[in-house]
Amino acid sequence: MFEQTKQYINGQWVESHSNETIDVINPATEQAFGKIAKGNAQDVEDAVNAADSVYLEFRNTTVEYRKNLLNDIVKEYENRKEDLVKAMTLELGTPVTASENVHYEMGLSHFKAARDALDHLNFRERRGNNVVIKEAIGVSGLITPWNFPTNQTALKLAGAFAAGSTVVLKPSEETPFAAIILAEIFDKVGVPAGVFNLVNGDGMGVGNPISENEKIRMVSFTGSGNTGSKIMEKASKDFKKVSLELGGKSPYVILADADLDKAADAAVHKVVDNSGQVCIAGSRTIVPESIKDDFIAKVKEKMAAIRVGDPQDASIEMGPVINEKQYNQIQKFIEIGIEEGATLELGGLGKPEALETGYFVQPTIFSNVDNSMTIAQEEIFGPVMSIITYNDIDEAIKIANDTKYGLAAYVYGSDMDTLQKVATAFEAGVIEINEYPRSADMPFGGYKQSGIGREWGDYGIEEFLEVKTISGFFQ
Ligand code: NAD
Repeated sequence: MFEQTKQYINGQWVESHSNETIDVINPATEQAFGKIAKGNAQDVEDAVNAADSVYLEFRNTTVEYRKNLLNDIVKEYENRKEDLVKAMTLELGTPVTASENVHYEMGLSHFKAARDALDHLNFRERRGNNVVIKEAIGVSGLITPWNFPTNQTALKLAGAFAAGSTVVLKPSEETPFAAIILAEIFDKVGVPAGVFNLVNGDGMGVGNPISENEKIRMVSFTGSGNTGSKIMEKASKDFKKVSLELGGKSPYVILADADLDKAADAAVHKVVDNSGQVCIAGSRTIVPESIKDDFIAKVKEKMAAIRVGDPQDASIEMGPVINEKQYNQIQKFIEIGIEEGATLELGGLGKPEALETGYFVQPTIFSNVDNSMTIAQEEIFGPVMSIITYNDIDEAIKIANDTKYGLAAYVYGSDMDTLQKVATAFEAGVIEINEYPRSADMPFGGYKQSGIGREWGDYGIEEFLEVKTISGFFQ
């Protein structure tokens, strides 16, 4: 049994003031496998006070010190690989291979990227007789979702530590153990007491007091738009800075000259990876009318071949979704898709055969989707592909951008001029041409209702910095 019912505050594991706990459920078995503290406002207060008491000291550490600290974290993170992979497979239900090759690696990449960005990030610049200084903003509240337990936490923590900001982290109560292991890593390498504080619990009990606390100067949040909007409202009371990474409904434009087999493969993975619980999932597949039938045949073949099942089995490609609520939400969207007249090509309602226990859903494809339909406009956060057709490139771009979101966008094809034209015209923060891999030193974030701010690498560090101008510094 995974059990950590204490909070990590001021360099120590301490009892929660609530004396309450939350069971953590394995989505593949629907059984509790762990227990955490259900923190409360007093826990948050203690954590904020600890972070506040050392923020000036940490802010004034040298860049070299923070670079070494991040380097030590990288090494210890690598030592804890097995534990991290095990925890994420249990709490999130990701196939063990993805826990290792995707989740573990992404977390690691952010600590490395922040460490390396310190080699070139300019914290002090002379402009004539003036000096412009960038320094840590101060106590930062980090609130993260469940879909990428090491990625979402690591990218914020790495940015904050590199900047010199002290933090209070509240990870998702659905997937807390990856963050608990991170706390153990920081403790082991000697992150100074008070610099990192972990308060486990739910949104109202812990997240809300974080967004209301006046000593917190910025809140960095990743999660749903609904929660992001509540946090922003609370933060507006005392003008805290907010950094928000929210949802998406990202388009995947397939060009007529694309290698059909490769394009279909790419499009399927952009929908089924992490059981579709990806903020940058390419869930609107935008295909030329001229190749529609061949494309549908290909994606059906490829999606039907996705092996769904027990995440502990190394041959499995897709595990369950996180919980019953998420399962029901996906079912509801599939129902709406059918009701609104889209054609169900594959999958649909109910669980996959022989997977009655666990929150498993069927990889699903809809064709004849109009971009105004609910399944084309709302984030489903499940393995559901909506195929929409276009007649010319301008129409494809118009459909792609016709959404309240603007997180990611993808294009696949052969002609580089057309690929570049489409990629440049997308209104989104994160764009890929032909599945080109994105590294952790590239900025990540969304346009429109997908968020505010940019994370990862040097951009992620800048989120935790204030800018100070001193005029007449040199006279
Ligand atoms: P969520 O908004 O329900 O929860 C996110 C976090 O906020 C959790 O830790 C939760 O406990 C906390 N929270 C809940 N209510 C709160 C409140 N009132 N005040 C403060 N904190 C509160 O989101 P989720 O269900 O965990 O994650 C799924 C959503 O996250 C999806 O919409 C997805 O698109 C989005 N997401 C976005 C990105 C991105 O980078 N843009 C990445 C991953 C997930």
